[in-house]
Amino acid sequence: MDCQNKNKNLDFCNCSYSSCPRKGLCCECLRYHLSQEELPACFFPDDAEKTYDRSIKHYLSIKGSK
Ligand code: SF4
Repeated sequence: MDCQNKNKNLDFCNCSYSSCPRKGLCCECLRYHLSQEELPACFFPDDAEKTYDRSIKHYLSIKGSK
């Protein structure tokens, strides 16, 4: 089934990995990263997202520094 919200989702997607096949497909993106014990790009501010470190540890280090 094609995602009918893909274009709308892309308006809010800050992921800089443009060739990812899951871009705009939030359910697949979330499922993939959770399976790796990570979080999707949209959990991270742009500068942190660009490091491609999507670990929960990285997320908590950012949240803890605020
Ligand atoms: S956050 Fe991960 S799965 Fe989601 S679009 Fe970016 S690289 Fe792909």
